[in-house]
Amino acid sequence: MQRHSAGPAPRVLVVEDEPTIAESVAARLRAQGFDTEIAGDGHQALAAAAERRPDVVVLDLMLPGVDGLEVCRRLQARRPVPVLMLTARDDETDVLVGLGVGADDYLTKPFSMRELVARVQALLRRVERAAELATQPTPDDSDITIGDVEVSRSQRRVRRAGAEVHLTPTEFDVLVYLATRPRAVCTREQLLAELWGWAVAGGTRTVDSHVKALRRKLGADLIRTVHGIGYALEVPS
Ligand code: CA
Repeated sequence: MQRHSAGPAPRVLVVEDEPTIAESVAARLRAQGFDTEIAGDGHQALAAAAERRPDVVVLDLMLPGVDGLEVCRRLQARRPVPVLMLTARDDETDVLVGLGVGADDYLTKPFSMRELVARVQALLRRVERAAELATQPTPDDSDITIGDVEVSRSQRRVRRAGAEVHLTPTEFDVLVYLATRPRAVCTREQLLAELWGWAVAGGTRTVDSHVKALRRKLGADLIRTVHGIGYALEVPS
């Protein structure tokens, strides 16, 4: 048991159609104190997520019926939840990062159970930290306005031209980090260190993926790429 906080065990939904992998992942997570459930395909995953409201989803990309990509999109559209995507090859991860699909981290098969548990725990720590911040508003939780984008830090909500935009927890954190440093160039490494606090598999590509998703949701001009260095938030003058 490696969790620090009291209260109910965090719920993890494992979505994987290969029973051997699903069972071994679930068993290992259970041994670490997680409340774990398995879904064998995309439809089951969406139903289980609606019913159980998992804290983290471990999601295989290749699923019969609704694939992992679509499951990830539909999950995020309903309720932001951290997703650890399992892929079969590194180049698949590259494609997904390029698409900015909204997964928070990626793990390529075969992976070690130790690695998987570490990733799940790290995603969960970020959620817990966000929840703590949400219940303990600080003087630094004022709303931020960038052009037609309004960010409520206390509520962790974003609107664009008055319409609510659903961001994943990580996308929200990246946006706020950049928005609180307008026009400042933030390196990919800085964003990784500050927001993830640990090395993710995709490395700096993971940062690129989240920026891509933010541009898709909030407008292409919001975040400027500083070639070879990182990103900066553009402030309309
Ligand atoms: Ca599979």
